[in-house]
Amino acid sequence: MSPTWPAGPRRVLVVGIDGVRFDLLPSLHTPHLDAVAGAGFLAAVQVDEATPTMSGPCWATVVTGVGVAKHGVFGNHFGGNRLDVFPDFTTRLAAVHRRRTFAAGGWEPLFLARSGGPLFAAPGRLAYIAPLEDTPEAWEVCDERVTAEAEYVLGRSDDDPQASFVYLGAVDETAHFLGCGEEYRRSVETADARLGRLLAAVRGRAGYAEEEWTVIVVTDHGHLDGGGHGGRTDLERTAWIAACGPGIVPGGPVLPLHHTDVAAHVYAALEIVPDPHWTLDGRPFTPAALPVAVV
Ligand SMILES: [Zn+2]
Repeated sequence: MSPTWPAGPRRVLVVGIDGVRFDLLPSLHTPHLDAVAGAGFLAAVQVDEATPTMSGPCWATVVTGVGVAKHGVFGNHFGGNRLDVFPDFTTRLAAVHRRRTFAAGGWEPLFLARSGGPLFAAPGRLAYIAPLEDTPEAWEVCDERVTAEAEYVLGRSDDDPQASFVYLGAVDETAHFLGCGEEYRRSVETADARLGRLLAAVRGRAGYAEEEWTVIVVTDHGHLDGGGHGGRTDLERTAWIAACGPGIVPGGPVLPLHHTDVAAHVYAALEIVPDPHWTLDGRPFTPAALPVAVV
């Protein structure tokens, strides 16, 4: 067995919150997302023309750094995908760079060999926690357990994942059942409180003072007012990314954003220059985070 790569000070946490409307954020109480945005940026992302506004293809693009033409996830059944060629960042970092990685959540095809999955093939540590049924209430319980698990893993220094992805799904489920009304707004605020707990777990780490954390919060697509997505309206196509960390200046310049940029920024945040053979379609979020050109 190869030894694990020595841990430098860099760490990355990506929190994926499914189906959060960009246009509603200013009217919601989301202090933890606001804190990330204040230390860096929050900006809209348009799901590109080739990508269905569905969770499967959008999350695959976020975590692989390539578009649907390469990863081959075109819907919420992941069959026929090319994730073996274009793996997610937790799998690639573990396999190629011997980094400790972690992925957690409750949506089957992201974590299990179901519906053509998993998207997260082989992170160093994986936590799949099933919702007891497909209802908003059961998904809130699921997200709560996912958050507790991630708090535990992120807060400890022994396992020490250098790159993590935590998936929260209750917001999307709520929109599908109840539309984007009061329950949906409350669910977004609950997801923000869970984000706050993950950030507190990071800050509470024994080695936090010596570490350099990048935090990325991202949604995959929007929702129609009545709940639902998959079409090409602005409400469905508008997603967003918020991030802070090394190479991101608060209020500073942000390059035009795409979902593919998330994985590209994860690599940059860990000071890894992507192999050209990966053919990443994304790039880091800011000019300051671009890799130093190899002459
Ligand atoms: Zn989704």
